[in-house]
Amino acid sequence: MALTGIQIFKLLPKTNCKECGVPTCLAFAMNLASGKAELDSCPYVSDEAREQLAEASAPPILPVELGNGVRKAAVGGETVLCRHEKTFFNATVFAAAVGSDIADADLETKLRTWNAFQYERVGLNLRPEMVAVKDVSGDKDAFAKVAKTIAETSEFNVILMTENVDVMKAGVEACGFKNPLMCAATADTIDEMGAIAKEKDLPIVVKADSPEALEPLTDKLVALGHKKVILDAGSRDVKQALEDQVAMRRSALKNGNRKLGFPTITFPCEMASSLEMETLIAGMFVAKYGSIVVLSDFTGESIFPLLLERLNIFTDPQRPMTVTEGLYPINNPDENSPILVTTNFALTYFIVSGEIEGSKVPTWLLIKDSEGLSVLTAWAAGKFSGDDVGMFVKKCGIMDKCKSTELIIPGYAAAIAGDVEEELPGWKITVGPREAAHIPAFLKSKIA
Ligand code: SF4
Repeated sequence: MALTGIQIFKLLPKTNCKECGVPTCLAFAMNLASGKAELDSCPYVSDEAREQLAEASAPPILPVELGNGVRKAAVGGETVLCRHEKTFFNATVFAAAVGSDIADADLETKLRTWNAFQYERVGLNLRPEMVAVKDVSGDKDAFAKVAKTIAETSEFNVILMTENVDVMKAGVEACGFKNPLMCAATADTIDEMGAIAKEKDLPIVVKADSPEALEPLTDKLVALGHKKVILDAGSRDVKQALEDQVAMRRSALKNGNRKLGFPTITFPCEMASSLEMETLIAGMFVAKYGSIVVLSDFTGESIFPLLLERLNIFTDPQRPMTVTEGLYPINNPDENSPILVTTNFALTYFIVSGEIEGSKVPTWLLIKDSEGLSVLTAWAAGKFSGDDVGMFVKKCGIMDKCKSTELIIPGYAAAIAGDVEEELPGWKITVGPREAAHIPAFLKSKIA
């Protein structure tokens, strides 16, 4: 059970030195208890107190790592019910299921097809992470073979879906090196499955028929010293499954119930008869509060919108996405190529650079740090002023690479042209298009 603010206060130095950013140790204790502060913010906590406070400062939903390699992912670690309160931390992981009786050629085709679903957006590679092997016959050799093939021939990490202990053991032996997720231990198998998970240090799903029935199972694993736990509250009815997700998240966050303070797994593949409906249900669980979502298949039209939704939901709403300030050559520019400048809001960068690339006109793109604001907002907030832009052009290195002395500024920042000219004597300041879509025609007219 999490400690209260007063219990935490008793373990603090009580000097009210303010170094943690709040006026008193009591205020810090209250913030720590409600998840609004980090224990590391107080440099004076003794080792003994730190140990006792570790539980109180741990996130109410414990983080769990899944898999290995480039598609390794963490789930859980969440501290709020709604992302606008702070942010969600670890994005929902997507898995597609195959049966343990799948033919070799079909498995190879599926893995190759699914591997191709990778999308570059705002500098990130959006892709699904896992493949679930579902035991359909109790044949442990067949199960192990499919698990091994996925682990050894693809980047995907593996969910081992069986409630049969012997089949699970075979799966773990086949792909244990890839840190697979064991799915699932029930009340009948918790001792044996828990022992395997503990011995191999693997994450494990516990499954029951309600959130309350999960509590003795998580208790057992925690008593074993194993906290890499994922919850499956059992229902495959959409409404009940959503209610269970909300109930478990609320119980962990609002009531401090550590027995339900773990990430969850959901199975749209067992809740609908078409991939379209599964995708809709999966979209709901991305928002509330599925840590892992298992689908029956991935297609471009199903996984792409889910990946975009996930990107939106799990982006920090209080921190704009940015790119690094600097000089970006596009289409192999030379010393006579045009020079454009814009802000470092990630969306602005990717739209503008995409249009320049599409134009095929060699261009230098200067990205000025505007604290992640778009052009108009940055200009209005004084983060993209003429003086700043002029100073940035001088220090960014463009003058060593390019003879051109014409700077093209965004149409929405036309008002800074005069100030930039003053800061850059001898330069011609040209106002470019307002909309990125007009950049290709504009650039082509410059080199015509
Ligand atoms: Fe108290 Fe530590 Fe904060 Fe100082 S830094 S006020 S000792 S909690």
